[in-house]
Amino acid sequence: MDKHASSPKIVRDVLRRHRLTLKKSLGQNFLIDENILRKIVDAADLTKDSYVLEIGPGAGALTQLLADRAKKVIAIEIDRRLEPVLAETLSGFPNCLIHFGDVLKMDLAGTIADDCPEGTPLTVAANLPYYVTTPILMKLLTGGLPIRTIVIMIQKEVADRLEAKPGQKSYGSLSIAVQYMADPKIIMTVPKTVFVPRPNVDSAVIRLDVRDQRKVKVEDEAFFFKLIKASFAQRRKTLMNNLMNNLYSKREKEKLLKALEAAAIDPERRGETLTIEEFARLSNVLNRRMDGF
Ligand code: SAM
Repeated sequence: MDKHASSPKIVRDVLRRHRLTLKKSLGQNFLIDENILRKIVDAADLTKDSYVLEIGPGAGALTQLLADRAKKVIAIEIDRRLEPVLAETLSGFPNCLIHFGDVLKMDLAGTIADDCPEGTPLTVAANLPYYVTTPILMKLLTGGLPIRTIVIMIQKEVADRLEAKPGQKSYGSLSIAVQYMADPKIIMTVPKTVFVPRPNVDSAVIRLDVRDQRKVKVEDEAFFFKLIKASFAQRRKTLMNNLMNNLYSKREKEKLLKALEAAAIDPERRGETLTIEEFARLSNVLNRRMDGF
């Protein structure tokens, strides 16, 4: 068999023959709708020169379609039990390479070093395991690999957070961290019915175009992320209260007020109303001048 690892019958058959039951704990909800799979592949804008990194190939449904369009597909799968399944479903696809291991624990650059020339632009395409969506996405964005485009199926609720703008219900520290490094755009929402087994939540396909440069100029990234985290610690509290409770001590209150004034940000505003540019400005003022006030 070399095609259609997405047909429900074939997926069930291959899993049965290999005596495999899918593990909820590994986020194993396999896609069984060829149309949706094709839309993921279409959204990745692949050419015959593309190198694709797939996280979690499962039974190889998406991998097959990616391999049809790209030069090479490098896939990382945590579950060794899938090795004989993938050997079967990908037997007709010599341009697929599978590495077994936990994507969160491995040195990604080292793992794929032999598979593609250093510096080759990469496209990520995946139906991600939902229990680790955010850490995987952050690793892809900050791991130093030359990733240009990311097309992933994730929980709808997380996709909304990635795309959210100031003032929207889903806007938070994840929106800012991701939009700082990439431009996210939801491609489509996906019902539970296209997976085996069905997940408990709705899903969405989102594309992220990774920026060549960060969206805003931040002098100390670690501090910028700390500031954002503190600003959203309790959504109902004002920016001032959150910063006082989570980042500064009582005796620093006056200095903080002056810094907010210098950054032209009203301390009574809530974190969820601040744009990424305002967070960057505040971060740079606090970082540079907190001791000088
Ligand atoms: N690509 C397949 C599909 O669309 O039908 C399977 C997608 S399934 C949602 C997620 C896959 O990620 C599973 O095959 C699971 O074993 C794998 N996985 C889970 N955690 C992982 C991790 N930490 N590193 C690598 N793969 C992981």
